Amino acid sequence: MTYVGRFAPSPTGPLHYGSLVAALASFLDARHAGGKWLLKIDDLDPPRESIDAPQKILRQLLALGLQWDLKVIYQSARLNSYDDAIESLQPFTFPCTCSRKSVAKVYSGTCRLKRYPEPGEPYAVRVQVPKQSVSIDDRSLGLHTWNLETDVGDFIIKRKDGLHAYQLAVVIDDLHYSVTHIVRGNDLLESTPRQLAIYERLNVSPPQYLHIPVLVDKSGNKLSKQAHAKPVDTSDAASTIRSALADLGQNTHENALNTKELLKKAASCWNPTTIPNVHDICAPNAYLK
Ligand code: GLU
Ligand code: ZN
Repeated sequence: MTYVGRFAPSPTGPLHYGSLVAALASFLDARHAGGKWLLKIDDLDPPRESIDAPQKILRQLLALGLQWDLKVIYQSARLNSYDDAIESLQPFTFPCTCSRKSVAKVYSGTCRLKRYPEPGEPYAVRVQVPKQSVSIDDRSLGLHTWNLETDVGDFIIKRKDGLHAYQLAVVIDDLHYSVTHIVRGNDLLESTPRQLAIYERLNVSPPQYLHIPVLVDKSGNKLSKQAHAKPVDTSDAASTIRSALADLGQNTHENALNTKELLKKAASCWNPTTIPNVHDICAPNAYLK
């Protein structure tokens, strides 16, 4: 099989150590397989984004030697494809006027049979999940199964404010670019059944998944661009990469002479089965604020 992987940061700020670990894992997995590694900027939600983040992220990746293949993909340039997908999912979608506050964690289907909203009344588009369970055999976490009706419920693919939902866009992108392997943080594991539901509705097979532990600070909070984490310092690329390799349970190749050689060795020895099979890992002090 030809391998296509990707790294898909949201441009809410420059890369922090947690996102670097995810980037490195997906890069090494792709290079180990002799596959392609795409870079996609998930810029679907302008109010949450920072205008100069994409350029910063690109510069950081290059300074660390993580060179992607093909042109950088921007979700903001793909909005028509998401609308086309909503169109093709139409037999399974319905408008929802519920307020966010009024819905339970698993949506109960209130609007499934309701009248169409009045003209001008804002509505979200939900997709009706099939009555079945879905599973992945994660390359690190093993088998995970969800019942779509009871664990997930009908979910939003286009928001009331007109923005497309991540759950839809990610599937449409991965299909469009023929992504075969997804390597990402396990904070996204709970999103996976929603994405599987869309694959199911589109009648196509999902890619393979490898969810890696999420990096946390000393109090157990996920590193995020908003808090806890400083931007990755790229001035000593090799030591940053060695630290991430150690967190991923990989050999740190102390004898590598430069970053290029380090990444080459790390790619050839990459072994996802030695990634710690835990929910999260505490980031080294140097990478915290
Ligand atoms: N943009 C998403 C995030 O940064 C990742 C999407 C994905 O890898 O599926 O959380
Ligand atoms: Zn509703």
